[in-house]
Formats: sequence, C-alpha cells, structure tokens
Amino acid sequence: MLENKFISVEEHLAAAHKAFRFLSDTTIQQRAAFMYAVADRIEQLDDQLLITAHAETSLPLTRLQGEKARTIGQWRTYALAVEKGIYVDAKIDRADSEKGKSDLRKLNLGIGPVVVFGASNFPFAFSTAGGDTASAIGAGCPVLFKAHPAHLQTSRLMADVLTTVLDDFGWPLGIFRHVEGEGNEIGTYLVSHSSVKGVAFTGSFAGGKSLFDLANRREEPIPVFAEMGSVNPIFVFPELLAQGAEILAKAYISSLTLGVGQFCTNPGLLITQRGEDFERFKNALRHELSAVSPQPMLHVGILEHYEHNKHRLTVREDTSPVAEGEMGISRHQAQACVMETSARNFLNNPVLSEEVFGPFGLLVQCDSMAEMLDVATQLRGQLTVTIAATIADAIDHSPIVEVLKDKCGRILFNGMPTGVEVVSAMQHGGPYPATTDARFTSVGPDAVKRFLKPLAFQNWPDQLLPEELQDLNPLGITRMVDGVYQYI
Ligand code: NAP
Repeated sequence: MLENKFISVEEHLAAAHKAFRFLSDTTIQQRAAFMYAVADRIEQLDDQLLITAHAETSLPLTRLQGEKARTIGQWRTYALAVEKGIYVDAKIDRADSEKGKSDLRKLNLGIGPVVVFGASNFPFAFSTAGGDTASAIGAGCPVLFKAHPAHLQTSRLMADVLTTVLDDFGWPLGIFRHVEGEGNEIGTYLVSHSSVKGVAFTGSFAGGKSLFDLANRREEPIPVFAEMGSVNPIFVFPELLAQGAEILAKAYISSLTLGVGQFCTNPGLLITQRGEDFERFKNALRHELSAVSPQPMLHVGILEHYEHNKHRLTVREDTSPVAEGEMGISRHQAQACVMETSARNFLNNPVLSEEVFGPFGLLVQCDSMAEMLDVATQLRGQLTVTIAATIADAIDHSPIVEVLKDKCGRILFNGMPTGVEVVSAMQHGGPYPATTDARFTSVGPDAVKRFLKPLAFQNWPDQLLPEELQDLNPLGITRMVDGVYQYI
C-alpha cells in the first residue's frame, strides 16, 4: 500500500538521478542561459499568477508584484554569478618536476539531486521557482520541489515555467520535478532516499529540525540547509533612546507589523534599560500600534499558531501588556500585540525567547547595562541582531556589541531588520537554531555554495580535464594559478 503511494515519487527521483549526469555536463554559461530564460519567462507571466497567489495567501497584490520582481532578480543575479565562474572557484597548482610536485587542479561541482521545501510566507521568492531552486540549478543540481499545500495552484504555475523552459532548451524534465502531496510522509520519503544528496528548507523550527535529524540518521548522511525561527532582537542603547524614543517606536511598529509580521526577520524582541526614556518609547509605541488595523494571515493554520503562541505568553504572570492593535473582525485577521517583561524573568524562562510568528513583540527591560550584557550572552542564534545606538553608545558598551556579533548572521547598526536585499554581500543565515548551518546564506548569489562539493584532479591530461581547469581557460573564468588570481 505504502509503496503504491510513492510510485510517482519514485519516478521523480529516478528522473532527477538521471538528469544529474546531464546537468553535470553542462557548462556554467549554459546553466546561466537557462537561468536567464527562467527569469524572462516569469516576467512574461500575466496577472493570473498574482491573482492566484493573492487568493491562496491573502498577501496584497502590491506585495506580490514586488515579490515577483524580486524572484526574477534572483534568477538573474545568481545566473550572472554562475556565468562568471565565481562558484567554480578553480585553483591550479602546476607540476614541478624538479621539486617532484604533481599537477593539481581543483573545482567545485554540484552535489547531486536536492530536495527543496518551500515556505508558505513567500510563494514566489522562497518557493517553487525561488532562490533555493535557482541556486541548486546554478550549482548543477536537479531539484525535487516539495510543493507547499498552502499555495498549490501558484506552485503549479511556477512549476510550469521551469518545465516549459526545460522543454525549450531540450533538457531533461528530471532537472526540475514538482512533487505534490500534503503531510510529512512525502517529504520524509524524499529526504530518506539514497538518490537525494542535499536539502533546502524554509519554515518552522519543528519541520527543519526533524528533517535535519532524519538526514543525519540516513546510512549516508546529507547536508540540510534549514532556515527556521528567529526573533531578531533589537538592542536599544541609552543615548539613542534618549535622543529618538518616538522615532524608534514608529520604525519598530512599522517593521513589527509589516506583512502581518510574517517575515523571518520580524523584530519580535526589543531589549533596553528601564527609565523615563523607555516610558516615552512605550507611550509612542501605544500611539503607533493603535493605528494598526488587523490584516489577514497567510492561512488559518498560521493564524491558529499565532493565536496559540501569543496566548502562551500573554497569560503568564511574568509578562504584562503594553499595547494592542485593532481587533480583527474576520476569522483570518491577526491582532498585533506588544508585551513586556523584566530581564530577570527573560533570563529565567527560555519560553520567553521563542518565536511567535506574526505581529507580536516582547519588550525586555533591564535594570542595568550589565543585565543587558547577560541577556545578550544568553541569546540563542539569530538571523539578525540590531544595534540601535549612537556611535558613542556602541563604543561605551562595546562588550555587548562584541557578544552580539557571535549571535547572528547579519548585525545592523540602526534601521530595522525586515527587508532582505538580494545582493552578494547579504547574509541570510545564522547560528543554530536560526539555521542548521551558520556557514551559508539562503539569500544572495552565495546561496549557490550550499550545493557544491570540491573535486581535485591530480596529473590529468589537459584534454581530459573539465574546461574550467584546462590550460587555455576556454571558459574565460577567474582562476587561481600557482597561488595568484588570474582575472579575465
Ligand atoms: P512548515 O510547517 O515548517 O512547512 C514547510 C514545508 O515543510 C511544508 O511543505 C511541509 O509539508 C514540510 N514539512 C514540515 N515539517 C515536515 C516534516 N517533519 N517532515 C517532512 N516535511 C515537513 O512551515 P509553514 O507551513 O510555512 O508555516 C508553519 C509555521 O512555520 C509558521 O507558523 C511559522 O511559525 C513558521 N515559519 C517560519 C518561517 C521562517 O522564515 N523561519 C517561514 C514560514 C513559516 P506539509 O505542509 O505538506 O506537511
């Protein structure tokens, strides 16, 4: 019975396994051409894509328009980096017979078929034809995409794009497979399969951690790049708070409630010292939050999670309410909420540092800067940490700043963490439990690195080497030769 259920999944896996050979034989320029074509094809999609995504996710059309543009940009940015050979990272150390030294040449190659789990909160940019799929194909890895049941029709439209472009190129359809089916069984089956060599995941901590554990229990363990939860703390320093409590409150509420708080970079935690300036900040925050109208969340399940997790924190005796947004009138709408607690309570109760996915913020009041250092020290890994400070603050309290550098993948000096640019210098990752591998990013062209493995060739005849490593450098890529970079 179980076997029958997975016959079509087996077919996808076999196709991906076969397609890996084909993709490994393509050049970086051919793969980049494919990626540019996918971008062009997404650009040509009519409003049906936006209408479908809006109906499935409740995300506003303007937001979806922006996300579509971002997704197109991702394919083009990653294609350019792949085309330039940046991730091939070719290194050549030529033979020296006098020293008895071998000829050694190294490059990066794709790891093999990759399973990608899309996130519900980004139906384009972190889903079917999102950054994980683009980076895996750029690296030369076929993708088995586990469709998210919360936006299945949107996912099918995007899958059609990839299939059409594969068809146009005359490439095997096993390079991209759309695997449908609700529930954990299919994902578990895919990740357990011996043909699969890597996993990319964005979603809940429970989902990411369980897939990570599963991948490590396999006979052949494989890497899992899971981006999970983060509360993205903002540490507010005294001089900045004294100078700009009102400005900070406005920016904070705007970031906290953006997209109904459904961003992995949502600033769910704010830490500062108690006192008059903090009271001014809270008053301004109440004023800002009172004007926030309730908005629908992605789906009922996410709203139920939000209500459940919010309730867990609001009923506790060690937290108290600061402000709430307008009450929701329909079943899908989430009411924004800000609570507060003391640093002592926060340090003693790990549940207070858990993510509440949605427009929920917790303010942590410290009695002293020493207590703020304790909070910083106890923090678990985060995608982002924000230092809300003047330059004098940052210098005066540098031990706190130094501790925080170890806790995240991106550290901001003022500003708000929501809004993740797709550029080479972006780091969208962080120490566990924000992700399962802090060495990599899932946004920006460096995301390609996750799906590569190095191979060194020793004493190979030039004509049998991959073109990337041949003496004449026929692909015209930057290489390190005998320890010196040669730029084209
Ligand atoms: P999710 O529940 O983690 O699901 C993401 C995908 O992974 C779905 O396709 C799901 O398949 C699959 N999956 C989850 N757990 C699995 C398991 N143990 N084994 C196999 N497959 C598994 O995430 P979501 O649906 O996007 O949102 C749920 C919650 O995740 C939110 O309330 C929020 O707390 C969090 N979230 C976090 C982020 C972030 O950026 N960190 C983003 C979105 C959501 P099925 O649905 O078919 O089971």
